[in-house]
Amino acid sequence: MMARVMVAERRILRADREAELARLTTALQAADDQLQGVRNYLNGISTDGNALIETQRLMLRSPEIEGAARRMIADEALAAEWAVTRALDHIRATFAELPDPFFRARGADFEAVGERLVRVLLDLPEIRPGTGARRGAIAVCYELTPLDPYQLQRAGIVGIVSERGGKTSHAALVARDLGLPYVAGIKNLGVHVHPNVRLIVDGSRGEIVLDPDEEMVAGYRSRAASSQQRLLSLSSLRDLPAVTRDGARIQLAANVESVAGIVAARARGADAIGLMRTEFLYLDRTDLPSEEEQYTDALAALRAAEGIPVTFRTLDLGGDKLPASLRIATGSNPALGLRSIRFSLERPDVFRTQLRALYRAASHGSIRLMLPLVSGVTELERATAICDDVAGAVAHLRHKTQESAEAEVGPPVPLGVMIETPSAALTADHLAGRCAFLSLGTNDLIQYAFAADRGNDDVADLYQPMHPAVLRLIKMVVDAARAAAVPLSICGDMASDPMLTWLLIGLGLTELSMDPASIPVIKSIVRASRLADAEALAQEALSLQSEVAVRALVERSMTEHLSAETPIWRGDHSDG
Ligand code: PEP
Ligand code: MG
Repeated sequence: MMARVMVAERRILRADREAELARLTTALQAADDQLQGVRNYLNGISTDGNALIETQRLMLRSPEIEGAARRMIADEALAAEWAVTRALDHIRATFAELPDPFFRARGADFEAVGERLVRVLLDLPEIRPGTGARRGAIAVCYELTPLDPYQLQRAGIVGIVSERGGKTSHAALVARDLGLPYVAGIKNLGVHVHPNVRLIVDGSRGEIVLDPDEEMVAGYRSRAASSQQRLLSLSSLRDLPAVTRDGARIQLAANVESVAGIVAARARGADAIGLMRTEFLYLDRTDLPSEEEQYTDALAALRAAEGIPVTFRTLDLGGDKLPASLRIATGSNPALGLRSIRFSLERPDVFRTQLRALYRAASHGSIRLMLPLVSGVTELERATAICDDVAGAVAHLRHKTQESAEAEVGPPVPLGVMIETPSAALTADHLAGRCAFLSLGTNDLIQYAFAADRGNDDVADLYQPMHPAVLRLIKMVVDAARAAAVPLSICGDMASDPMLTWLLIGLGLTELSMDPASIPVIKSIVRASRLADAEALAQEALSLQSEVAVRALVERSMTEHLSAETPIWRGDHSDG
């Protein structure tokens, strides 16, 4: 997480240079004390927070930060915070040029340390997990990594705003999974938001209100209360099936990142866990999780699922998910580089360890495995060969050791493919013939179809799930799955949006996997709808030329057919 501070250019009198150097010395010590405090905090909750913090302590005293800042104060009479900022600019430029992606990524550590020092020099409050945050406070950040929402929640933060990032970034999905309201992509945050200012974060509308007056606060409080009330009334649907008025059963599954997410999904009546993002076990640490740990984790997930099927997605590392324990080359376009299944094929040792854990767990519950970011048949064949090999070895070992004497040896674990690249969508018929099921990952599919980075707010407007290109891609995959009689689900964020429910079921999707918090409202829509109306809508939408026309059609049609009480707008249902 970076909380980039805006620092004004400031020079000092030459006569004051000694005093300024002393000020820097004091600040370096204070920043170092803070880092030791963070290390102590992480000792209790992170497997190995020490190494990272120790590295940052060394960076603080490095020639690049301390050395450069001292030189600029002594030679150019710069104020200490301005000298550190200049040193950081230099570091940023140097690291950006490094050919080795691993070392290039270490630039972020330098930045974090430098920012900490600048905050000390400016007397700004420390940003850290744990005691640094006031309970109930809102975190204002420059950019979030997927891990940050966990740490912020542990620290008692109740909402997050960031300057960079998109609403389908992994950090945003994690925040939603945790029930933390998060608004990304607010320009010049650092200039406008100061410590102790009052802030409203409306995660459901993607808005923030700075320094609201009492009337506004009251308005938002009452909106939050009525949204809570609506959610409460929807909870009566928990044990009812999602069936349309004309009798079509729609499976409503959940996307989760943790065992806690599974518990939340069960509480909301999920029919299945349609996407378990396993890679989060790799992120909050500097070592690799062992097979045993992954096995135990999978068992905990199955226990929490209480018998509903769980689809474990195999490692989706790379891109914006870079664990400290692995050197993953990012290239100059991380999202287009060595991520997901590409990385797993590049590092079969890591992939096989995870697979062994999951295949071992499979004898204790209803499990499916799903491969992310498959680009076509060749890649699928390579991954399938590894999966089959590991499954065979696990079965053999089980037979020999009777490891799970109490567990039945069940049917083979279904292996599915995520459709997340245009190449996979275009060859979905071939892929369907070679796997047990398909799942549409539209967050990535849209990113790659529109060539628009999902984590970059500058191009966030291009995320248009109602665009004819998206509808056609989905239709193509639905047709391919139907022809091959292979089950198909959708686990992209589209499935969580009530306004898209008709389009999705109308296009032929029968399993929607979503953020657990969205299940009640989507169920209420399914139960209030007729599939025939949704199909007519989807049919007409497919003939339209733009997302603007599709949106107008959806709004008209859903408002006309659904009762006024059925919530269809995002802003009316979310927990955020
Ligand atoms: C997707 O890309 O739609 C998806 C579900 O996977 P993730 O969001 O984890 O990339
Ligand atoms: Mg994806």
